[in-house]
This record gives sequence, C-alpha cells and structure tokens, in this order.
Amino acid sequence: MSALADVTGAFDRSFHAWPFFEARHRSLARSLEAWTLRHVVAVGHTEASVDSATRGYVRALADAGWLAHAVPADGEAALDVRSLCLARETLAAADGLADFAFAMQGLGSAPISLFGTPRQGQAYLPAVRAGRKIAAFALSEAASGSDVASITTAARREGNGFVIDGEKTWISNAGIADFYVVFARTGEAAGARGLSAFVVDANTLGCTVTQRLPIIAPHPLGTVRFTSCRVDADSLIGAPGEGFKIAMATLDVFRASVGAAALGFARRALAEAVVHARARVVFGQPLAALQMTQGKLADMATAIDAAALLVYRAAWTKDTTGARVTREASMAKLFATEAAQQVIDEAVQIFGGHGVVSGNAVERLYREIRALRIYEGASEIQRLIIAGQVLANAAPTASNGE
Ligand SMILES: Cc1cc2nc3c(=O)[nH]c(=O)nc-3n(C[C@H](O)[C@H](O)[C@H](O)COP(=O)(O)OP(=O)(O)OC[C@H]3O[C@@H](n4cnc5c(N)ncnc54)[C@H](O)[C@@H]3O)c2cc1C
Repeated sequence: MSALADVTGAFDRSFHAWPFFEARHRSLARSLEAWTLRHVVAVGHTEASVDSATRGYVRALADAGWLAHAVPADGEAALDVRSLCLARETLAAADGLADFAFAMQGLGSAPISLFGTPRQGQAYLPAVRAGRKIAAFALSEAASGSDVASITTAARREGNGFVIDGEKTWISNAGIADFYVVFARTGEAAGARGLSAFVVDANTLGCTVTQRLPIIAPHPLGTVRFTSCRVDADSLIGAPGEGFKIAMATLDVFRASVGAAALGFARRALAEAVVHARARVVFGQPLAALQMTQGKLADMATAIDAAALLVYRAAWTKDTTGARVTREASMAKLFATEAAQQVIDEAVQIFGGHGVVSGNAVERLYREIRALRIYEGASEIQRLIIAGQVLANAAPTASNGE
C-alpha cells in the first residue's frame, strides 16, 4: 500500500524537456508535484465522505492558487491548455478526486469564460477560481448521453426570462454545486442548432437534485431535475441556438485534459509496478529481472510516451494557434484513456493478488480510470469524430469523380 512519496522516485519526468513546454510549464509541474506530496492523500473515498473531500480539495486548490490554471480570471485570455493538462496529470497521479475537484471547476465554468457576458464573468469566475462557488456542467440526459443533439430538457421564453423543464443525469458535482451550466432546447432549429446554454444557481426554485449515483470510484454525481425553473434572460450564455457550439468548444479544451488525467493515472501505475517488480522476489529473483516482466514494463512506458505526445500535441496546438483542435483533442482523449486502462491492468497483473486488494494504489487506479473512457464522449464517439475529420479533410480524388 504505497503512498505517492514511496514511488515518486520511479516517475519519468523526461517529457518536461519536450519542445511543447516552456520554462513556466516545467516550473508549474515541479511545484505542483511538491505541493501534492504535502497536501493530497488518496484515502479510500466513500459515498459518505466524498462531498466533504471534494469541497476540501476545491478550497485547498484555490488557497494555493492552482485553480488559476483551470479557471481564467475574469477578462483574462483563454486558458493555457498545457498548464491545465500538466496540472491534471500531476493531481491525478496523486488522487483522482483531487484531479476531479480541479477539473470540474474548469469544465463547469468554461462556457462562461468562453462565451459569457461581462456580468456573468464577474458574477461567477472570481468565485469559482477562489473556491467560493462549485461549478457543474449539465449536458447529459438519461436518453441523450452520446447523442447530445437529442436532449429534451426545454427552456421556453416567458416574460423577461426563461422557464426550464427537464432532467439531467450523470452530472458531476450534483448536490454540492453552487450553479449548473444547463443545456436546454430553445427550438431555434431542429437538433443541435436548437439548443442554448444557461447558468442556473443551484438554489433557484425548481432546481432539485433528485438522485445521487454511487460509482466504482466515488465522486459527487447525480441527477438534477428542473421543474418550472424560472431564470432571468441574462442567465443565457451566448446567443440563443448556440448551446451545442458552446458545449463542443468547451469540450475542445477539456477533452485533451481528460487524456492528461489518464496519463497521470498511468504514470502512477507504472511507478508502482516498477517499485513492486524490483522488491518482489519470485523463483529466487526479483520480478524486475524476469524478461516477461520487462516486456510488460516496456509496453507500459511506450504507451505512456505515445499518450503524452498526443495529449501535449493537442494542448500545444490549441495554445499556439487558438484554433479548434477537435481532431487532436479526440485523438488525445481516445488514445490516452485506452492506453491508461491497459497500463493499469498490467500494473495490477504485476502486483498479483495484492493488486486487487482494496486500498492498494493500483486497485484504486483500476477503478479510477474506467469512467474516463466513457465521459466527455466515449471512445466510440471519439472514433466517429476522428473518422469524420479524416474523411472531411481528405482531398477528393479523380476516381470518385469529385
Ligand atoms: C463518472 C461520470 C461523470 C460524468 N459527468 C458528467 C457531467 O458532469 N456532465 C454531463 O453532462 N455528463 C456527464 N457524464 C455523462 C457522460 O458524458 C455520458 O455517460 C456519456 O456521454 C455516454 O452517454 P451514455 O452513458 O448515455 O451512453 P450511451 O450514449 O447510451 O452509449 C452507450 C455505449 O454505446 C456507444 N455508442 C454510442 N453511439 C455509438 C455509435 N454511433 N456507434 C457505436 N457505439 C456507440 C457508446 O460509446 C457507449 O459505449 C458523466 C458520466 C460518467 C460515467
């Protein structure tokens, strides 16, 4: 049952020298890692403890100034995605819940920082960045997870505002959030073009958390019901009908960072496996001396480097061009989450029976990684996005008559 401090010497940090990074990134990675060693302890979070643990992390991350890398100051230019990714990777290696608390402040407030009015920016961003407000991103519905364009939660104009009716589920931070960015159908057009985004305070009449969802790696998650929930006109984020665009632009920034969190889990699993393989003696030799173990470690390290290249390629491209990085972000998320699942599975194998004992770091990572292949677009959806981009960008050929 090792702590991060026991395996920190086994982490490979050679990627900090890659040309994607500047001195400020290397400095951030070093100082955040030192902070996590003192402040982040991956205790066995339970459904009963997870709300207060998440609140505690939000406060600690805010007090130490780290949330500045997830939430831009009001009026500040866009987030630096490389810093966001490095921070997620570093926190995830220490505790998935610390990464979750950090990332959700960013994801839940990004529609406001990217598309909000100055009033919305002032009302929410400083408070989210300072940990005084907890943010949530409410897009998914029971019948509309992958197929976002089919959501049925509706917002109809009434007087000087809107009335929202419908139900969102799988909402991270449901129950502890101070506000939800809610995507609802306003009907400007059919499908994706008829959605809008709203910021809804959690204490608004008609906004109720109806269910909590216990999951394999506990974090606050639940269902939020909107019943004749009346919001002012200035709760609308962006223009009517822009909701789908706002959701996708937000995911464009945060998808690569899901890959970064997966990378943090995978690096921790490899470090745990290396330390264990050196110490554990079987058939008179350390596991690490056996070539079959070495083959596993080689595959794990190679998958991690390949994932890191895709994650930081996406982040660097976003930071340096400011353009949409749909293809790069999807590739980063797809590859890094799938690779991390395999790396962690191999780490469990190297640990043998100890690998499945509750409380072992690799057992925790095995539970932590699973949801990352599902949320913010499951792996199948990332493949559809990537294929769509490949086909759209391929020049027509003479043989297909175009
Ligand atoms: C831990 C966790 C946290 C979450 N947090 C949030 C949150 O904060 N906010 C939010 O809005 N949502 C959140 N979600 C919801 C998440 O985004 C959805 O679960 C996800 O989009 C998948 O939707 P679904 O669960 O309805 O699965 P479905 O859409 O029913 O998909 C089921 C399976 O079918 C596959 N599939 C779908 N379409 C195709 C296709 N065309 N071809 C082949 N296969 C396909 C999917 O990839 C998946 O494997 C969270 C989910 C989890 C598990």
